Amino acid sequence: MTLTEKLLARASGKARVSAGDNIWVNADVLMTHDVCGPGTIGVFKREFGQDAKVWDRQRIVIIPDHYIFTSDSKSNRNVDILRDFAREQDIPYFYDVIDDPNGAWKFDAAKGLLKRQYGSRYAGVCHAALPQKGHTRPGEVLFGTDSHTCMAGAFNQFATGIGNTDAGFVMGTGKLLIKVPSTIGFRLEGKMQPGVMAKDIILHAIGEIGFDGATYQAMQFHGSGIATLSMDDRMTIANMAIEAGGKNGIFPFDARTAEYVEARTRLNGTRSAYEPVEADQDQKFTREIVIDLSKLEPTVACHPDPGQRKSAKELAHVRLDRAYVGSCTGGKTSDFVEFARVLRGRKVAIDTFGVPATPEIVHDLQNTRWGHQTIWDILVSAGVQMTENAGCSACLGGPVDTFGRMNAPQTCISATNRNFPGRMGHKESQVFLASPATVAASALAGRVADPREYVN
Ligand code: SF4
Repeated sequence: MTLTEKLLARASGKARVSAGDNIWVNADVLMTHDVCGPGTIGVFKREFGQDAKVWDRQRIVIIPDHYIFTSDSKSNRNVDILRDFAREQDIPYFYDVIDDPNGAWKFDAAKGLLKRQYGSRYAGVCHAALPQKGHTRPGEVLFGTDSHTCMAGAFNQFATGIGNTDAGFVMGTGKLLIKVPSTIGFRLEGKMQPGVMAKDIILHAIGEIGFDGATYQAMQFHGSGIATLSMDDRMTIANMAIEAGGKNGIFPFDARTAEYVEARTRLNGTRSAYEPVEADQDQKFTREIVIDLSKLEPTVACHPDPGQRKSAKELAHVRLDRAYVGSCTGGKTSDFVEFARVLRGRKVAIDTFGVPATPEIVHDLQNTRWGHQTIWDILVSAGVQMTENAGCSACLGGPVDTFGRMNAPQTCISATNRNFPGRMGHKESQVFLASPATVAASALAGRVADPREYVN
């Protein structure tokens, strides 16, 4: 069995499962956020009753992150619905925007979009917050009401996005009926060259199979090259499995996984026991694709979908209006470090936005010094508009006052994960997806640029 089959067999109490089997799976964690949480709660109450209790209050994680820093009153109200529910159900893992458990969330536009407007428990983008807060454990099943839930596959989990109806059912029962996906293997070999990042690996992989090339399949990443990848790298890769239509992305467990998970569960006092899965020697793939990491170049996915692969060099003629670094995929500390490495001592030529995924990342950037400046200050000095309001921000467009939103038909290079028409706002805008290093080089040049022109 592959990693995914092994994991689903265990979660369904069976010795063996095969691709195509329909099985009942026990969930370890259900995650929801401000966009889908209110709908999920509505389904749960409709189906299980107004006074029903969730199946396990310790296994539900609620993370408002999407439409937070906006004056849109309906978006603000969604956070209040989550708070009311968390209080009613006594859910410990609700990462509220504000500190007052009886308060109401209201964004104050007069304070501007750059200065922090959240309380001490706010966690930022759900997929980056889940591992930081100690909710990702090897061998577990994570369901989330968000398509990029697959990011937690970096931790040797079966993690997948589900809709509100399924999530309402999981909330009441802790179970879900799913079909076991078949698996595509990606054997990674070698080591990335300077200027190349994990984002280039996944953009390359999606370019190989197309944006629907893994529809309802598991994307398993393995091979000797895995050992060279940090947990942030693995998260970037697993995050974008859904951009090829994948049911989930998954990595093997190793010492690096253990170190991360054990540190985070200890820090946050979350459940620390886990049991990773290993694939069988005779595992079967629908196909296996070998990627030599040492041969990869800075890669870009062109408008209008993540499968439109070209090298950054080939796109040097594409002029840009803006650049954006942020999101669960591209807004981690390591992403901003590579962004800053290229921008240090230089000035961007176009509007450039930086949105850290979580408050912890804001803290990292504001407290890590390179010489006499922090990474945050290096970016601000280069002309990047950095916001402390960590969250999804313009990755998903959002209400019209969202920081960095494309409100005009412009062309943007972005470290986010999805570029279908209208994704970052205006439906006639164009988004080119790239690594933070490529976004930085392009922000300096005002056109798509290869970061190796700057880092070497
Ligand atoms: S940052 Fe973007 S991709 Fe990630 S959860 Fe938020 S909207 Fe979705």
